[in-house]
This record gives sequence, structure tokens and C-alpha cells, in this order.
Amino acid sequence: MNYSIGAAFVDGSYISIDQAKLPIMDWGFLRSDATYDVAHVWRGRFFRLDDHIDRFERGIAKLRMSLPVSRKELRDILFRCVQLCGLQDAYVEMICTRGIPLPGSRDPRTCKNAFYAFAVPFISIADPEAQRRGISLRISNVVRIPSSSVDPTIKNYHWHDFTRGLFYAYDQGDDTVVLTDGDRHVLEGPGFNIFMVYAGEISTPSTGILEGITRKTVLELAMKSHHLVKERLVSIDELRSADEIFITSTAGGIIPITRLDGKIVGSGAPGSTTLDLKARYWDAHNNPEWNDPI
Ligand code: PLP
Repeated sequence: MNYSIGAAFVDGSYISIDQAKLPIMDWGFLRSDATYDVAHVWRGRFFRLDDHIDRFERGIAKLRMSLPVSRKELRDILFRCVQLCGLQDAYVEMICTRGIPLPGSRDPRTCKNAFYAFAVPFISIADPEAQRRGISLRISNVVRIPSSSVDPTIKNYHWHDFTRGLFYAYDQGDDTVVLTDGDRHVLEGPGFNIFMVYAGEISTPSTGILEGITRKTVLELAMKSHHLVKERLVSIDELRSADEIFITSTAGGIIPITRLDGKIVGSGAPGSTTLDLKARYWDAHNNPEWNDPI
């Protein structure tokens, strides 16, 4: 088994990532009927793992599913996946699917919910050079699936809107995309939350989003370091006049946006507030309350 490329936990066994396969009848695959979470390991330590597991458990409860493993077993499985591949920096995903219904049944209550997990080398939305320079963002013509249909606080695989938006951005030569609520407010992008800085005040959308663990960390660090910070509706027009924009994700941390819809943001280089928070975010990885050594 070649675990160096990643390790997975499927159907009660550990397996190398290239061998991991799903049962085709699992509704997680057939109907996107699943929730998941992604935590990361940095320099041999999980970052805020309990916050990720708390969010995962809340999503499972909202979907009326139950995890077939205890919280202790779940933690042990995630640690084991990372230990097997020997990675110091890893992207670690836990998944709960509706599972497979009784033969011939279309009733979700008959499904046996399933648990899967895997660890692979750390994945980032932008490579280190792009992170340093900043990346370009396009405001999408695609509206985010309404919260009244799919609850965005449950981390989910309903990504048709994001993927359509991404192609729209790529077609214009941009790196990524942010979706809107159809009422001229920005929400979030494929795998990230968004922040803007205007006249010294930091703002991030308050509703219609996944409450990211990186977003939460940034809010806490910003308040602690006496930045003015608000969770509120953020309009497209405000974003266009921002001095600084950055996105936040487990997959990469804090990533500066230096072009929006083809126009330079601020000075065209990552701004001082973004860089300050980015430094604080990576420093926070040494906070013993937020890390679990492998
Ligand atoms: N929003 C969406 C839709 C996401 O999928 C993600 C992460 O994948 C985020 C925001 C950022 O969340 P976190 O900081 O917990 O990675």
C-alpha cells in the first residue's frame, strides 16, 4: 500500500488514497446527500480540529443523519489517516453520507448512514507565489443556491453554482469567483469566505454562507488586535470600492485579492491589514488551545 500519496478510511478499513472507492448506490454519490468537513494539519499538528468536528456534527444533525462512529473513534480515524501517510502538512476530510437505502426503497429513513475519511498532502486555493502576489477575483453572474433551498451552514457538495461561476471566471482569465445572492450582495466562493477592508473597517458577509473556521479565526484575531470588524451584508458596490479584499479557507488560510473584475484593488499589492491578519493567522497555529499534535 503506497500511503505517501494519501490514506483513506472506507468501509471500516484503511487503504491508500488511489485504491479508495465508494459504493455506487450510496446517496452521498447519487444525490449529493452528504455533509463533510475539512481540517488541516500544519507542521505535524491539527488546527482547531474540535471546531471542525463541532460543525460537522451540527451539519449531520440538521440533515437528520447519524454518524456510525463515536466522536472519539472519528478523531482516532483522522489521526490514523495522517499517521499512515506520514504527512507534516495535510488536508484532512471527514464525510458522512446518507448511505444505501433498503432494496427498492426511496425512503431516506431506511438508509444506513456511512462515514468516510481521508488525508492527502495539503491543498491550497493558490500556490505560494500567487499567495504572495495576490489573485484575481470575478463577481459571478451565477446566483448562489438560495439558503431557503440548501442550507449553506451545512457544508455540502451542491457545487453546480460554484463550478458554473468558476468557468465564468476562467473564461475571463481570472483565478476564482465570488457568488452573489441575486440582490447585489456578495456571499462566498468555491471553498472560501470573503472579507473587505474599507476606510480601516473590516467587513464580511453575515448570512447566506458557510461559517468558515478560518473566517471565525480571522474575526477573533481581528477583534483581539483591535481592528474594527463587522459581520453584515456586503454589497457588490462596496466590494468594488474596497481598499483591500481577501478570502479565507482551510485550503490556504488568508489569500489576498489584488484584482476584482479586471480592475486593480487598492495599490495592486496585498494590503497592510491583509498581511497583518495573515501573519497573525499562521502565528495562531502555535496556540496550544488550537492545536493537536499528531
Ligand atoms: N465557504 C464554502 C462554501 C466552503 O466550502 C468553505 C470551505 O471549504 C469555506 C467557505 C471556508 O471554510 P473554512 O474556513 O472552514 O475552510
